[in-house]
Amino acid sequence: MSAALALDRSAQLYSRVRRVIPPIEWPAFSDDFDAILALKHERNAVVLAHNYMTPEIFHCVADIVGDSLALAREAQKVEADVIVMAGVHFMAETTKLLNPAKTVLIPDLRAGCSLASSITAADVRLLREKYPGRPVVTYVNTSADVKAESDICCTSGNAKKIVESLGVPEVIMIPDQYLAANVARETGVKIISWAGACEVHERFTARQIRALRAENPGVVVLAHPECPPDVVDEADFAGSTAAMSDYVTNRQPARVVLITECSMADNVAVLHPNIDFVRPCNLCPHMKRISLANIRGALETMQHEVTIDPAVAGRARRAVERMLAV
Ligand code: SF4
Repeated sequence: MSAALALDRSAQLYSRVRRVIPPIEWPAFSDDFDAILALKHERNAVVLAHNYMTPEIFHCVADIVGDSLALAREAQKVEADVIVMAGVHFMAETTKLLNPAKTVLIPDLRAGCSLASSITAADVRLLREKYPGRPVVTYVNTSADVKAESDICCTSGNAKKIVESLGVPEVIMIPDQYLAANVARETGVKIISWAGACEVHERFTARQIRALRAENPGVVVLAHPECPPDVVDEADFAGSTAAMSDYVTNRQPARVVLITECSMADNVAVLHPNIDFVRPCNLCPHMKRISLANIRGALETMQHEVTIDPAVAGRARRAVERMLAV
């Protein structure tokens, strides 16, 4: 590509994100944009980016964006041979479960999740022994091994519906204690939970939300259901990242705060220049392991490929597909 064309494309990309990326940071990304574009073409690859990716990934190199389930499902519709997951490991696994014939890469194997690492397949078997007869509802933020031990999966967006669909008075719901507590309140179903938590959302406090309201009169507070119940109680609305984004798009609040991971507000703010975003910042250290440089590296070296033992994959896929059927 000629230098003039490259400059022009860089300027076009920057116009998408100039509200959230300072000009001084931008030149550092330019080489990676060009290389990633060429490599995607060469490898017949797509990049999936979770809502918590930084804006230069989310708005400038991703082909599909969204929450983890939306990413895995949308990836089923593309013709690509290779999928790069700009997200964390359990998301790459879910993508592989739903796209077994495609090569799924994660740019950094250390991109984990405090929820996914809080529970193992052996823990689920012990829970079943301790509470026989209760269905196991497993949040998608878990490993394929854990999903394989489960009856059905759920997301933060559909957890209430999934639990109600089972039609039983008591369920085991793993691994997020706060999502479980929030769903128990909404459904009236007795929930046996696990002591896992998202290290980003559990840091928010009800006092912090009250302080945000006092400092920012009129602010509309949207909270993720991985937050503790007293934080959700302080919010005007609680929902998944997709639901929060839809709320902003449809309701157009004059001033809003998203009680979730830091980059989400940047990514939504880019699309709504008329809205004032208040931005407390809790970063997910796992999500932040993914960068333009290692997305480029993944495409150059075709690493790190995500594989799942076929015996585990079949059972894990069944739990995901049961959720999709609901
Ligand atoms: S934000 Fe929370 S749930 Fe999401 S990957 Fe990070 S630790 Fe896991």
